[in-house]
Amino acid sequence: MLGIESLTTRYGAITAVRDVELTVRAGEIVCLIGPNGAGKTTLLSTISGLLKPSTGRVVLDGNDVTGWAPDQMLRSGLALVPEHRRIFADFTVRENLMVGGVTQTASRREQLFDEITSLFPILKERLYTQAGFLSGGEAQQLAIGRALMSDPNVLLMDEPSLGLAPVLVDQVFELIGKLREGGRTLFVVEQNAQRMLSVADRAYVMRSGSIVTAGPAAELRGNEELFKTYLGRSGGAA
Ligand code: ATP
Repeated sequence: MLGIESLTTRYGAITAVRDVELTVRAGEIVCLIGPNGAGKTTLLSTISGLLKPSTGRVVLDGNDVTGWAPDQMLRSGLALVPEHRRIFADFTVRENLMVGGVTQTASRREQLFDEITSLFPILKERLYTQAGFLSGGEAQQLAIGRALMSDPNVLLMDEPSLGLAPVLVDQVFELIGKLREGGRTLFVVEQNAQRMLSVADRAYVMRSGSIVTAGPAAELRGNEELFKTYLGRSGGAA
């Protein structure tokens, strides 16, 4: 469904993503973990069209979509939940969701709106609240809901639990579980490696721009050496 082939992304002289190969198949939850500065956000930004790769290809449903702009990617079925949520603080919850559905017909947008507000009851309660007044956990749900309004075939998430209190972190992982039950295909960057590995099917570990290890999440989860070598203490956070 999503294939990344020999992808390299540079910021001037800095190579932030180096020759990365990975795949995400339909219905899978695949995660990308690694220390700060590994290149994870750069990789997601390149896949979603925010950055252009220097070399390599992004293939979505068999089509070469390398270098496509974010709105083209969205229309092709790939949505990003960015780091720090980036919801529109002055818009209501409803307006944020509707903006997410801009690629849909009016009737499909209403249908998705009903589905998503059922999936996130807290958003239903807050429909006319300005998004800037939401708690961190609610804002994260809104960011995910907004991305789902484009009815993506593949959903990319960048650090969905970042900066949230432990109880809200639990909610985010519950939500990822719900999305899995709904058959969604997810590619998630997450600093809470242990928790993420407990809900993912497969994982890639990135360091210094390169994929250094990959495998079934259950196997990597029990790999103490991996945590010591690549992830440090934060990777083992509960
Ligand atoms: P974190 O977990 O801290 O968000 P990350 O794994 O997402 O880290 P990136 O943010 O992708 O890593 O950064 C990868 C490398 O690229 C780092 O060395 C970083 O300093 C560098 N970098 C990131 N953004 C830029 C930029 N706009 N200009 C120049 N260098 C950048």
